[in-house]
Amino acid sequence: TIAPAKRLQKLPEQFFAALVAKANARAATGSDVINLGQGNPDLPTPPTIVRRLQSAAENAKYHKYPPFRGFPFLKEAVAKRYSEDYGVELNPETEVAVLFGGKSGLIEISQCLLNPGDVCLVPDPGYPDYWSGVALAGAEMSFMPLKEKNDFLPDYSAIAPADLERAKLMFLNYPNNPTSATATPEFYEQTVAFAKNNGVVVASDFAYGAIGFDGNRPISFLETPGAKEVGVEFYTLSKSYNMAGWRVGFALGNPEIIEMINLIQDHMYCSLFGGIQEAAAEALSGSQQSVRELVATYESRRNALYGALEEIGWKATKPAGSFFCWLPVPKGHTSMSFADLLLEQADVVVAPGSGFGENGEGYVRLGLLTTEDRLREVAARIGKLGLF
Ligand code: PLP
Repeated sequence: TIAPAKRLQKLPEQFFAALVAKANARAATGSDVINLGQGNPDLPTPPTIVRRLQSAAENAKYHKYPPFRGFPFLKEAVAKRYSEDYGVELNPETEVAVLFGGKSGLIEISQCLLNPGDVCLVPDPGYPDYWSGVALAGAEMSFMPLKEKNDFLPDYSAIAPADLERAKLMFLNYPNNPTSATATPEFYEQTVAFAKNNGVVVASDFAYGAIGFDGNRPISFLETPGAKEVGVEFYTLSKSYNMAGWRVGFALGNPEIIEMINLIQDHMYCSLFGGIQEAAAEALSGSQQSVRELVATYESRRNALYGALEEIGWKATKPAGSFFCWLPVPKGHTSMSFADLLLEQADVVVAPGSGFGENGEGYVRLGLLTTEDRLREVAARIGKLGLF
């Protein structure tokens, strides 16, 4: 047998792989399974973006190695989008790094900043990739509970002093996966002050930055005065342009951290295929009508699902952003036992909250990732179980 290096043994179990296997096994028996468990957008990439890739693929310039740190036109396009959408000015050369989805940067930032013995502050519940990056860097995690009574924002005064002393990095994610909560300008102002006072770098994961409901546009951490001095934001085309398979993302903000991320990437990759970069620039620079339509679609789906859930007596706060619903499990169930029950008796796949951390217990996450009719069908099937 070939032994993996110790750092691989520290990686947490891939929780969602097990969820997918369970759902697939059920579907293989011929059941009509409705899968709301994963965060994979169901709609296609807008055709103008796809066509741009098709024509760009013919361009021999892109058949060679791309520039190490990405084509300048792509970095300029994302800087312009941030200026228009958030009023944030970014230097495309020094304050933008091109990534392979947000995910590659979320792992790399731990490599950039954490030594063994250092602590990373991680939201609980939270997106499990943060844990993987910290584990690969050989560092430790200190979990910041996200409680409903605090609008799912962390309470910095509750962090153990011994952890804070060693803390070098902190992840935040609003609109939030899995709770769907959004951040306020006051919270981000408090965050900048906290980061400065304690020498902690902020990694703001803005994967759902385009998806806010009821006319509320999510705010970027970089809008906060002083944000660029203490952190970076991870931005991705995966959700806002239905481009999850294209793997285009960015790190934006503090130039010293951007340089570190670029340095790692210089050694590992040679940037994305140029045709993808051209199509990504088209997504960012072209008409944003498709983004408005996508947000309207998720909002209608949310309203359809919550209307139907109310009818069966399952009460919860409607999401303000992202495409997730964070719903309390009925009495007498853990998040896992309830998720298993829904799969076995209603052919509905949901993500058990415990997969996102200890404080996710008591909830399940449903993605708004199928049609309104199918979402109403989910509520009807669950209603028949008579649990609420
Ligand atoms: N961050 C959060 C909170 C996510 O939910 C996801 C994807 O599901 C990502 C980051 C990664 O997105 P990508 O690597 O596709 O940009």
